[in-house]
Amino acid sequence: MPICEAKTLFALAGANNCALAAFNISSLDSLQAVLWAAEAERSPVIVQVLGATERYVRDVETYLAAVRLYLENCRVPVLLQHDHCASVEEAKRAVDRGFGAVMFDGSALPWEENRRQTAEVAEYAHARGVWVEAELGSIPGMEDTVFSGHAEYTDPEKADRFIAETGCDSLAVSVGTAHGGVAGEEHLPFQFDRLERLCLRRPGYPFVLHGGASMPHSLLAYVNLYGGAVPSAHICSEADIARACRMGIRKVNMDVDNWLAYTGALRQFFSEQPECFFPTEYLEYSRNAWEQEVRHKLRTVVCSSGTAPTET
Ligand SMILES: [Zn+2]
Repeated sequence: MPICEAKTLFALAGANNCALAAFNISSLDSLQAVLWAAEAERSPVIVQVLGATERYVRDVETYLAAVRLYLENCRVPVLLQHDHCASVEEAKRAVDRGFGAVMFDGSALPWEENRRQTAEVAEYAHARGVWVEAELGSIPGMEDTVFSGHAEYTDPEKADRFIAETGCDSLAVSVGTAHGGVAGEEHLPFQFDRLERLCLRRPGYPFVLHGGASMPHSLLAYVNLYGGAVPSAHICSEADIARACRMGIRKVNMDVDNWLAYTGALRQFFSEQPECFFPTEYLEYSRNAWEQEVRHKLRTVVCSSGTAPTET
């Protein structure tokens, strides 16, 4: 199945009243984990790349060529998106590199500047058939290279104007989630009333959640049981994210739980088999953990399992 256009995937999610899960991949084994999980669940999926990954892989063009080959051979609809572009130049470069969708993050800018730069990215991307996700409001927390020290919840009226004036195809909103969590024990209160007001103003518009992982106690306990020291964090529960998807969220970025599952599996493997030094054995074990976590998210959080069209 070829790589799909973003609008096809979002239409599919809308028709099924569920959300698309988007996962950042950092290597080919994490890409395999995501694609195999999506195929097993018969679920469309969005594969994302961050600037940090580009630095990690060094030769981006060759890496992306390999990623594309995997996507083209995947048996469910997939989309390749560039996550968090911090500048107009970075977003335009992602468009030129052939991503089907780019996320431009001007949320740290003043409203007018975010509006102006997002509109510039949208004009450039749309002329080349590329989907643009923007962000309004501030999603707190830190994840990879993305950081904000505070939450500024998205105002529904401003969001409505922002969408009209920039032409962005989807919008990441701040309604209670956090990138990688915020230090603390409890779950963040999700602002369902705010989300409802956003969706009422723009029925059917694809709103996006970032920081959609939940850092469940079971995963934290797993990593820390084998020598990890990952602290708890304030973050939204899986039940809240699932409810938001039924209300009109159409894409959820969720990475931290995959990373916890992967790290926990590696720690467990090395703890239980200290004599083993075969990468295919320990990487297969940790890749399985990533794959199982993705299947869980597709099935019970975004609820997109079984929505991929049957191959003809
Ligand atoms: Zn994000």
